Amino acid sequence: MRLLEERIRKDGIVKSGNVLKVDSFLNHQMDVTLFNEMGKEFKRLFADRPVNKILTIEASGIGIACIVAQHFNVPVVFAKKTQSINIDGEVYTSRIESFTHKRSYDVIVSKKYISKDDRILIIDDFLANGCAVNGLIEMIQSAGATVEGVGIAIEKGQQSGGKLLRDQGIRVASLAIIDSINDETGEIGFKEY
Ligand code: 5GP
Repeated sequence: MRLLEERIRKDGIVKSGNVLKVDSFLNHQMDVTLFNEMGKEFKRLFADRPVNKILTIEASGIGIACIVAQHFNVPVVFAKKTQSINIDGEVYTSRIESFTHKRSYDVIVSKKYISKDDRILIIDDFLANGCAVNGLIEMIQSAGATVEGVGIAIEKGQQSGGKLLRDQGIRVASLAIIDSINDETGEIGFKEY
């Protein structure tokens, strides 16, 4: 999506450790007009899928997911980060390793909000090694629900997450795919379409 690529080139900041900061329009301050264009594009890309729910993960996926959900006219559920796993069986849980924070944490979704009839589109801000998305997929599978696809704002194509998901036959649509980040020059390379 050209609009998003242009914005990343203009306002994205390269940090050491292969991290791209997009705090001025996506991860801290949010450009809702841009999100709306992203929502339209996800709707176009998944128009043939019978999505009835969007699943994302706390915190930075929530803003994007809510705007995307308006285009699908479906509810959003977000996986909550938690310190203590609830063992009373009321929640689906998954352990996720954070790429940016280099530590693991547990996420939960109440069993009330995912059931076997759900056809779910996963939305997240970044796809790097795929841990976050895989954790969400695990919970969807535990519920016996269907993963209709994965919609990502920025995929870091130089990391393995996208390939791992596509190799499993999951439809992944990323609005911008980065294939190189140079933390000395600040240069960002995009995959050509
Ligand atoms: P993964 O689980 O695919 O390795 O990483 C995805 C998660 O890590 C995303 O939800 C995102 O919050 C965070 N993340 C991964 N790479 C980056 C990055 O370069 N910049 C930012 N801002 N977040 C990232």
